[in-house]
Amino acid sequence: MIKFLLTLGLTLGLAGWTAPWADAGPVLILDYHTFLGTHTSSLDFSDQEAISQLQKMESLGFRFVGLKDALAGKTGKELSLVLTIDDGNHSVFPAYFKIFKPLGLKPFLFIYPHAVDLSRFTMTSKQIRELEKEGLDMGAHGYFHDPMGAYTWEHDPASVRTEALKPAAPLTKIFGYRPTLFAYPYGVAPPPVQALVRSAGYDWAFAANEKIVPVDFSDPKLDHWLVPRTIVYRWNLPRLFRYLKHYAERHDMKEQEAQAPSVP
Ligand SMILES: [Zn+2]
Repeated sequence: MIKFLLTLGLTLGLAGWTAPWADAGPVLILDYHTFLGTHTSSLDFSDQEAISQLQKMESLGFRFVGLKDALAGKTGKELSLVLTIDDGNHSVFPAYFKIFKPLGLKPFLFIYPHAVDLSRFTMTSKQIRELEKEGLDMGAHGYFHDPMGAYTWEHDPASVRTEALKPAAPLTKIFGYRPTLFAYPYGVAPPPVQALVRSAGYDWAFAANEKIVPVDFSDPKLDHWLVPRTIVYRWNLPRLFRYLKHYAERHDMKEQEAQAPSVP
């Protein structure tokens, strides 16, 4: 066994092999919703509010990476931030051009197909394709946006099956590719529902709640079917920024220690 490992190490060493995750640090996946500026919901922000939040994150030293890049281990060593936006509200289209594009950011969009072209409150398929041309990636967020939690699974499994199995075909038509990432509507799903989403051909599925949980995609123990995301609510912003500030300060201290001249 030892001989085998030595041979393997030598072979890999000779080939100049480096682990794909060598420079991959954790990411905190943020989940935004609407940019109406009406304050009718704790999930809603004005353009200016969102811009100042993102600028504040950058000024604390955080970098933004795309969700697909994070999944591929292209994150850099320190905590990076990933932006996702759920649902496909009509405000997302102008928000991309006013908020995200000027800052060079490409959020990942989770869309439920029933909403597309549905009303003036949702995005059109034309707008979605325009955002794709801008380089935004997209995934599925159920079909009708009905809950997929334990209660619904027990009392209305047919509805949960629809949410898991139905979005791929219409989204493939809208996106021009089959989505590989899934975000549960309302952010929760019990293990049998996770298995159902897995059987529908997705590679990863994402939860969402108010908890702040950095995700390490290089961790073999990471659950592919319930990857945490932090919903950005108006009420949890102070806590989120306290966390980021604390994280950044700890990182600065480590850097200073590393650069300090060693005392003989
Ligand atoms: Zn949603």
